[in-house]
Amino acid sequence: MYVGVDVGGTKVLAVELTGEGDDLVVASSAQVPMPGRSASDAEVEAAVVQAALEVAAGRPVSGVGVAAAGLVDRPGERVRFGAHLPWRDAPVRDRLAERIGAPVVLDNDANCAAHAELAAGALRGVSSALLITVGTGIGGAVVLDGRVVRGANGMAGEFGHVQVVPDGLACECGLRGCWEQYCSGRTLERVMRVALGSHLDGREVEALARAGDPVARQAFATVGTWLGVGIAGLVSSFDPEKVVVGGGVSAVGDLLLEPARRGLVDAIQATAYRDLPPVVATRFGPEAGAVGAALLMTSRG
Ligand SMILES: [Zn+2]
Repeated sequence: MYVGVDVGGTKVLAVELTGEGDDLVVASSAQVPMPGRSASDAEVEAAVVQAALEVAAGRPVSGVGVAAAGLVDRPGERVRFGAHLPWRDAPVRDRLAERIGAPVVLDNDANCAAHAELAAGALRGVSSALLITVGTGIGGAVVLDGRVVRGANGMAGEFGHVQVVPDGLACECGLRGCWEQYCSGRTLERVMRVALGSHLDGREVEALARAGDPVARQAFATVGTWLGVGIAGLVSSFDPEKVVVGGGVSAVGDLLLEPARRGLVDAIQATAYRDLPPVVATRFGPEAGAVGAALLMTSRG
């Protein structure tokens, strides 16, 4: 069996797939809390192994695909940097392969999500697209000619750390004013903390918004508007057929996507003279990265 594991800022998610094409689904999954940015490399890698073995449930593992929220080198051997992960130029692929005793493939989480959506999701048959994941931070992938663009160093699509506010909010990457500081799960938490004076995690904000709480809905509207503004810049740059949005924050659907669509229209030039791409949800949602990692492993295994 092959397992896909997504290593994000707050959790490690492992999945096993079954079926193909439109019938491809997650057969089982397991989730382990992320040990945190200050954890050691070994602690994070132990969490990855734990999640993979929970999904395997005693069966032998033939290979593991790993989707990492950060800069992965072009050969897929090392995580060079992750704003929300402790890995720094770490040979993650080989260390995990040794721990698990099976082959490992490694790629950026948003690239993996794009692979999943191209193979069996919202990007099937689509030639040019942008994929944005909104979770703890923002991940991104560019699809051109039906393929994920890797860039000279394997690091294309890191939209989350494009500066949108000079001298703006401090980001975990070390810069200030990065897009993800205004458009992420962390932003939701910050907006709610300012409004209510108490801490709520993303899931709690989502539950409030679904129940109609005006403060929570406004928090999603704020994040969604920033999402649209960022997408406008990317649409100006790439002129894609379609924009797909995934990641944990996107689980609320149109509460996030409607303000994003409006933000796109308001922030792009010449709307009367161009066709704007649809902004839609990924098929695999917060599991897209793990699904794509499993598919990468399967296609190479
Ligand atoms: Zn940043």
